Amino acid sequence: MPIYEFTCKQCSHEFSVMVSISEKEQVKCPRCSSAELQQMFNSPFSIGRKSSCSPPSGSGFS
Ligand SMILES: [Zn+2]
Repeated sequence: MPIYEFTCKQCSHEFSVMVSISEKEQVKCPRCSSAELQQMFNSPFSIGRKSSCSPPSGSGFS
């Protein structure tokens, strides 16, 4: 199931949800329950890997 990132237009809360395409239309902000959401289109499959780039060798890694 794809992960979508949203930003709430009401409270600017950013969150990600894992829902099917049909359920995507029903997503609401977990903070204020607003349905006024801005969907982020920054490569859904890269979520969670932003800081997981390990150096090729272990040198310098504490
Ligand atoms: Zn909100």
